[in-house]
Amino acid sequence: MSEVSEFSRLVEPVLQRHQWRPDRLLQILRDVQDVLDYLSDDTLVRLAEELRISYAQVRSTRDFYAFLYSENRGRYRVLFSDNITDRMLGNQALFEQMLANFGLAAGQVSADGLVSVDLTSCTGMCDQGPAILVNELAITRMTPQRVDEICVLVKNEVPLADWPAEFFVVEDNIRRADMLLGTPHEPGHAIRAAITRGRDGMLAEMRIANLRGRGGAGFTTAIKWEACRQAPGEQRYIVCNADEGEPGTFKDRVLLQSYAGRVFEGMVIAAYTVGARLGLLYLRAEYRYLRPQLEAFLAGMRAQNLLGKDIAGDKGFDFDIEIHLGAGAYICGEESALIESLEGKAGKPRVRPPFPVTCGYMNQPTVVNNVETLCKATEIAIHGGAWYEAIGTKQSTGTKIISVAGDCERPGLYEYAFGVRIAQILEDCGASEAMAVQVSGASGVCLSEREFGRRIAFEDVPTAGSFMIFDTQRDLFEVARNFAHFFRHESCGFCTPCRTGTALLSDLMDKIADGRGTQYEMNELLRVQAVMKASSHCGLGQTAGNAVADTVQKFRPAYERRLAQTDFMPAFDLDAALAKGRAITGRDDALAHLDQGA
Ligand code: SF4
Repeated sequence: MSEVSEFSRLVEPVLQRHQWRPDRLLQILRDVQDVLDYLSDDTLVRLAEELRISYAQVRSTRDFYAFLYSENRGRYRVLFSDNITDRMLGNQALFEQMLANFGLAAGQVSADGLVSVDLTSCTGMCDQGPAILVNELAITRMTPQRVDEICVLVKNEVPLADWPAEFFVVEDNIRRADMLLGTPHEPGHAIRAAITRGRDGMLAEMRIANLRGRGGAGFTTAIKWEACRQAPGEQRYIVCNADEGEPGTFKDRVLLQSYAGRVFEGMVIAAYTVGARLGLLYLRAEYRYLRPQLEAFLAGMRAQNLLGKDIAGDKGFDFDIEIHLGAGAYICGEESALIESLEGKAGKPRVRPPFPVTCGYMNQPTVVNNVETLCKATEIAIHGGAWYEAIGTKQSTGTKIISVAGDCERPGLYEYAFGVRIAQILEDCGASEAMAVQVSGASGVCLSEREFGRRIAFEDVPTAGSFMIFDTQRDLFEVARNFAHFFRHESCGFCTPCRTGTALLSDLMDKIADGRGTQYEMNELLRVQAVMKASSHCGLGQTAGNAVADTVQKFRPAYERRLAQTDFMPAFDLDAALAKGRAITGRDDALAHLDQGA
């Protein structure tokens, strides 16, 4: 079969499914990669022609996302999750074991094109790590034995569908349930309750409830919904941000896995209130395994008239939901970057204003809410705003789900009313030796033991949910170094303070780790962090140095024991760098060496 007809046979159905829509480019690239294994430059040229957009646009989208490949990465692509909690559970030894087993270097593709093994950022399985992805499907609780078993399966080219089912089990690990995790869900109940209240009534209850976004920023949901409802536009959209990429967070994974009814009904209620006809759930690539069951759930809702036309018998209330899959870019958790990604582009944050509520998806008024936030809307629809507002603290109403991982006996999900103290969470999860807690992920705050009396609440310690515990045996310098590398990798590169600052921070941390750091580097870490915080374009750059600054200030000995005693040392050995020159010239006398003491 000719190359042209092969392309047509495999790619035409994908284009047809997406109606040749350029705004579906990311989804098209994902689906084309599924059939062709990777996205060569030639494939991009053909796609650009078919979609009538520029090659540069197609290429910039492909090159932006970690899970889109320009070259063959092997028929089996293994990625080890490399969050700090995976490291604490021994992922590095397992990674080396698998590389040795295949005779590969990190990132190298085997000569027969069978397999590649590499690292990736946090995959959202911190409560059951070390975790890996094989062709984007999650496998948890890796052990040396499991590594060997997987190597045999790969070498025998056993299809993933025939691998032992227990490999792919992802547990919920719900340890403490409150109003959300502990209440049974009756399909349609929340939607019907919202319709009974009416559009104005529902918005009024949201105002009374004072629900704040659970994605971290804590913006008041009612204000967002009202602004979207009032903004001029031909269409309105509801976007569920399920791009849960913050290291240490996995609450949305559990909500999508076991509470999808609440998530989707929350979207329906938002649509009813603001007048939207289409909802988009942006699912992070690492949770791809959830997609089939989520699609099935949506089909079930359509069958029950909880989606589609005249929802729940309310004439003229039409709304449906599509699922879009991300492709491995942490920055797409930022709402304007997520919208760019939904439109098929590289996920770079937009310049704001205008804000998404007035000019979001397809330049139309758009509500972007976190998965947990939408679940909360169902509770407010059923019980009313006053009931909800009575729980939690004055500025932080209701409950919060915390994803607990790290040094504790019982990692998993804990739901508390806002205002719970850090010490209480530590006691509940069995963390008796805790030295530090990183709250809200790599971009959050590192709390020392002296701060364990503080409370989880927007007025004290805000959080998107991540709660990583480090006991007295851990090295907080290595924790901060892992985060510094994470941000270097995840910076979208749009603005200089973040692009350069994240590179500088990780280089400085590496220099200190190599024993070449001095007081100068310590000062530089804080100086660079301050510049990034003040001048980066979006929250990623503004927060990327938080963990470094916190640990420098609160865990200084972890840095100081690595420092060289001089005022400044170069990042590399100057004399050793001249060795090649000496070999070429045949000189090795005293004058051919740098006088290090001068
Ligand atoms: S701060 Fe970083 S992630 Fe945000 S726009 Fe700038 S480069 Fe991109």
